[in-house]
Amino acid sequence: MQIPFNKPYFSGKEISYIKKAIQSGKISGDGMFTKKCHSFFEKEYGFKKVLLTSSCTDALEMTAILAGISPGDEVIMPSFTFVSTANAFALRGAKIVFADSSSENPNIDVAKIEALITPKTKVIVLVHYAGIACQMDEFDKLAKQYHLMIIEDAAMAIDSFYKGKALGSFGNLSTFSFHESKNIISGEGGMLAVNDSDLIKRSEIVWEKGTNRSAFFRGEVNKYGWVDLGSSFLPSELNAAFLYAQLENMKDIQSKRKKIWNNYFDGLSSLKSKEIGLPVVPDYATNNGHLFYLICRCLEERSKLIKYLKEKEIMAVFHYLSLHKSPYFAEKHDGRVLSNADFYTDHLVRLPLFYKLTDAEQSKIINAVLDFYK
Ligand SMILES: *Cc1c(COP(=O)(O)O)cnc(C)c1O
Repeated sequence: MQIPFNKPYFSGKEISYIKKAIQSGKISGDGMFTKKCHSFFEKEYGFKKVLLTSSCTDALEMTAILAGISPGDEVIMPSFTFVSTANAFALRGAKIVFADSSSENPNIDVAKIEALITPKTKVIVLVHYAGIACQMDEFDKLAKQYHLMIIEDAAMAIDSFYKGKALGSFGNLSTFSFHESKNIISGEGGMLAVNDSDLIKRSEIVWEKGTNRSAFFRGEVNKYGWVDLGSSFLPSELNAAFLYAQLENMKDIQSKRKKIWNNYFDGLSSLKSKEIGLPVVPDYATNNGHLFYLICRCLEERSKLIKYLKEKEIMAVFHYLSLHKSPYFAEKHDGRVLSNADFYTDHLVRLPLFYKLTDAEQSKIINAVLDFYK
């Protein structure tokens, strides 16, 4: 039996909650289940305001609108990230300035940011790769000194912390993903967290197609209309009902995933002596069991490892291709060499990690990797 890279988790309650949503007679967005999800996240993680979205990509597009990005504004972000991090800002005409990853882990290297800041810089976007925190104190300092907005692409970082404070609660705005490849899922889904009080009112308007519909339903205005830019960013109640069934099992999901992550870490730690890299979780960060990776010594070795595992019916996969070298962006890039981003592009490999991965399956994977390196 093949071991896939990912298998979506189902709590078993999803269908009954979707049925409830249907029986309630309201299946468009911002209904009972959406509100239940919103209050869960606000209470659990201390976000000032959250809005479910149809994807993390959508939430990122909302951040670009809310940051007031206009053509020519500069946005600094890692090159080693998903295409949506960059697309959201490129769509609004921003000049994307890609920064390198750190040598310790794939997160953006804070030491390399200051040199990239110009009078046109408006935003720094961080990605907490694998759910492991960026160095938030340093970013806060930069943001204050240069009057920049911080946006956290926390797509992988639900239920993870920096010095005890939830990721997603630092940035002016933060985004999460509930895509089926993430820890907590709703098929396609995402969330915007708004921590900057000045942006709360406008975020609801952008969410509701540029109208003040939310304020209207709360009885704060007596008619609603087009008051700003916006789009259709809210998910239907069917998605929110699905998501809520997952949230109820958050603790169980997280402890299971962390256990699997720890098994990999312990089982493969002997590879360190062969100069194979394992994930580094700095003291200030937590691990949320989102993904487990190895750093191979060269591209050829990684290709061979993936092939070897595939022959044993184990699906291991590499990850991002540096965006500064992508077909769309390469000619727009200013030519700086981003050697760590390229390094992770060529050397990083992810192992299967999902709730239903059995002990037997995991032993098979660990033994196969150890055999490969024998
Ligand atoms: C998964 C992911 C996204 C995209 O999430 P969607 O919900 O599929 O739009 C964006 N950024 C990062 C870092 C991701 O891991």
